[in-house]
Amino acid sequence: MPELPEVEITARRLGRALTGARVESALAPGVVALKTFSPPIDALAGRDVDGVRRIGKMLALDAGDLTLLVHLMSAGRLQVFDSRASLRDRSSRVLVRMEGGRELRLREFGTQQRAWAKLLPAADVAADEAVAGLGPDAFPAPPLDEFTALLDQPRHLHPLLRDQRTIAGIGRSWVDELLWTAHLSPFQRGSDLGEEELKALHAALDAVLGGALVHYEQVIGDTVPDKLPMPLQVHRRAGEPCPRCGTRIEAIHFKDYVMCYCPDEQTGGRVLKDRRLSKLLK
Ligand SMILES: [Zn+2]
Repeated sequence: MPELPEVEITARRLGRALTGARVESALAPGVVALKTFSPPIDALAGRDVDGVRRIGKMLALDAGDLTLLVHLMSAGRLQVFDSRASLRDRSSRVLVRMEGGRELRLREFGTQQRAWAKLLPAADVAADEAVAGLGPDAFPAPPLDEFTALLDQPRHLHPLLRDQRTIAGIGRSWVDELLWTAHLSPFQRGSDLGEEELKALHAALDAVLGGALVHYEQVIGDTVPDKLPMPLQVHRRAGEPCPRCGTRIEAIHFKDYVMCYCPDEQTGGRVLKDRRLSKLLK
């Protein structure tokens, strides 16, 4: 699933491509994907795009007093194409056609339809259920005292940092990178963190998420590719040597994701039980 850096670079590139463009028409071939009925999607027609921004892990296209809010979930893509999609293209979920022939296209791959869009009056965006409950954005990092208060919960850091109500933008990939950068165990509890540990994790937000954005700005051109070149150091690198200390990166497999960490630097040398194995032993 695209997380803060991936959604942010997408918003920047879409904003660059579309700001000032006039919408000619809009339609939603993926009826399940469009979660609102009023105003209708074609109410975008005739409006100029004011910009595209990121809200947490969502994208928001602003056009006058309307906002198209999009969540890509795990397999959605929002890109601008020079020509229009064939109506037989079954990956199309929402199509926003610009004057001059370009098209903003929400597509989704795979059998599941989970990506969604909502067309909202701009004034209602902040109160929408997908937006109202979000914690402060992870990048730029909130002030240290605010971050300290947010993390003062007796929950493991891995799920705590991924909880969008605590802090917005972090998911299953970048949480591994943040914890590794701060030398913290994924199973340490937020409320048990000392001052230095909190400072390290706080600094990691800007270093890791900001670093990923700098990387994307350098390598991504006008169009965000289907698969982003994510600069990951430990996530999905189980079995490889830790880039810092050379220890073998270990992984814990959960039902639908993998947690990766360096045992030497994050868990006091302990290799944690892999849930995949412990499930079999139950
Ligand atoms: Zn290491």
